[in-house]
Amino acid sequence: MVKYQHIFFDLDNTLWDFDKSSILAFDKIYDIFNLINYGIPSSSHFHHTYFDHNNRLWELYRQGKIDKEFLKTERFRLPLNDYGIVDEKLAIDLGESYTDYAARIVSLVPNTMDVLNYLKEKNYKIHLITNGFLEVQSIKMQASGLDKMIDKSFVSELVGFKKPDHRIFYHAMENVGATVEECVMIGDDLSVDIIPAKEIGMAHIYLNRKKISHHEKLDNEIYDLIEIKEIL
Ligand SMILES: [Mg+2]
Repeated sequence: MVKYQHIFFDLDNTLWDFDKSSILAFDKIYDIFNLINYGIPSSSHFHHTYFDHNNRLWELYRQGKIDKEFLKTERFRLPLNDYGIVDEKLAIDLGESYTDYAARIVSLVPNTMDVLNYLKEKNYKIHLITNGFLEVQSIKMQASGLDKMIDKSFVSELVGFKKPDHRIFYHAMENVGATVEECVMIGDDLSVDIIPAKEIGMAHIYLNRKKISHHEKLDNEIYDLIEIKEIL
């Protein structure tokens, strides 16, 4: 029987409740920048407008077609344009403020600490592989106390490759001194976290909190982190 030793977690929407902190950060910037005066009806309306732009820009960022600074501003410039607002300074300021608030408003996915404590007690080494921005991810880790639970973090910006590029997984394994048989990847994104793990022969657990339907044949699929206790 294989004895797993290293557990690699994705961060956003796997341990860190990115969707929740993002919504709360939108409430903040909506108030602070008085966006109601610009004709944006509500914080949630603005978030909704932003959402598709952000996803599309993130895909371009993952592909290396745009850089981080462009992404940060463009994901606000475009939704502002949708409301007929052309204001470069506002787009830049919103980009900066949002990034900052979203990292500082602590919101963990339910059962995160419970499961990490459980894994630690069982002597697993716990690591992160994340595509998020370096400075943002470290603020989240410290603010939430996750930094005390994680042995090693592999942030794409530092490694030089982003998931789903296999090289970030190989880099992480080599760095912790593990063979692929000793590792498990856990993440919420099928194409970014789980399929590459499967492709390189790494065990994987797909956290599918929204119960999104798919046709992939996977090792394990869970709807709540707590189910990890039944697997590991
Ligand atoms: Mg994720």
